[in-house]
Amino acid sequence: MKTPITSYVVKLVSHCNLNCSYCYEYNMGDLTWKSMPKYMSLETVQMLSKRIEFHCLQHNINEIYINLHGGEPLLYGIKRTKLFFETLESVLNGIKIHWGIQTNGLLLNKKWIELFNQYKVHLGLSLDGPAEVNDKYRVDHQGIGSYRKVELAVQQLFSDFGNQIFSGILAVIDIDTHPLSVYHHLKSLNPKAIDFLLPHGNWENLPPGKSTTSLMLPNYANWLIPIFDEWFDNDTGHLQIRLFEEIIEQLAGGPGRLETIGLHPVSLVCIAVNGDIEGVDTLKSIPGEQILRLNISSNNLDDVLVHPKYNIRQKGESVLSDQCRLCDLLTVCGGGYLPHRWSAKNQYCNPSIFCSDLTKLIRHINRKVSYTLHLLEQNNSSYAGAPVRMS
Ligand code: SF4
Repeated sequence: MKTPITSYVVKLVSHCNLNCSYCYEYNMGDLTWKSMPKYMSLETVQMLSKRIEFHCLQHNINEIYINLHGGEPLLYGIKRTKLFFETLESVLNGIKIHWGIQTNGLLLNKKWIELFNQYKVHLGLSLDGPAEVNDKYRVDHQGIGSYRKVELAVQQLFSDFGNQIFSGILAVIDIDTHPLSVYHHLKSLNPKAIDFLLPHGNWENLPPGKSTTSLMLPNYANWLIPIFDEWFDNDTGHLQIRLFEEIIEQLAGGPGRLETIGLHPVSLVCIAVNGDIEGVDTLKSIPGEQILRLNISSNNLDDVLVHPKYNIRQKGESVLSDQCRLCDLLTVCGGGYLPHRWSAKNQYCNPSIFCSDLTKLIRHINRKVSYTLHLLEQNNSSYAGAPVRMS
């Protein structure tokens, strides 16, 4: 039985008003954006609604997640975005849509906030840290840092009722920065959640900070662990850090929700501006790997479920490398995120390029959580404890 699709990343716009140097859309070799329409057309929006409706009916789905991306999705404009919401909501009448949008915030203003409030859209802001951190990579087409403009967006978010829609910050990790300074800064902006993202890279194109001689150095884990410790001791309950929560959930035997870690089958597709169905858009970090040759104009969403490339994300342990299958962290880590496993020789049958980091981080979290549970158990004889799985 195939896992049906319940989450959609929809690319409304193929261009961006920033030119972040690490961006997998534009700066890691993929050029498909150049031949895309600039904006998703109304015809494509209508076709998308019908394809989603059909898929939901076929699989008895009554609740879905749609996350708007670009390029920069606010370049779609308020009128077109409103029409997008209206079209989807009207065709998918009776199906609960959880809306999200991921923006760089540069164009955010009161009118956008009103629209997002109307449709209860969760807004994620992309920001890597304070100005000196953020502006290293998150620059415009003239090479000018974006921090000051994003700061204005954050102020907008806290005006009137904007803070109700501000769901979180997505920050790409730069291991040359001080982790706690970055964490304290992002926390000071009062997000409900922070997503720390590993930069993209694979066995052919190593991520920043990794070289053929330093692959075993867990430098990303070393950056994340001080943040985990502070978050776990002081901030759980009022601030979500999804990577940490996911690892804890997987350690406790839970199903997990992130596609970046764990063995569970994914239920997410990406729809490109021209209606192409892509498995995972971050595969653009390996030019051409995202292409499935499916388009909503001629394919049902069920077609993606049987596509061999999409299937890699459904088969769990059976498609992983021997090293991962024998690893005692397999059920928690799952071999790491798909794009980070790729090599020209073995395709996706490799451990993650961040294996040493995942190993150190998961073991650290396991130790700390287990010790805390042990103390709780000692202090409260009625506490039954929780299982912590490592294999
Ligand atoms: S920790 Fe490394 S070897 Fe173990 S499952 Fe993850 S990527 Fe594979």
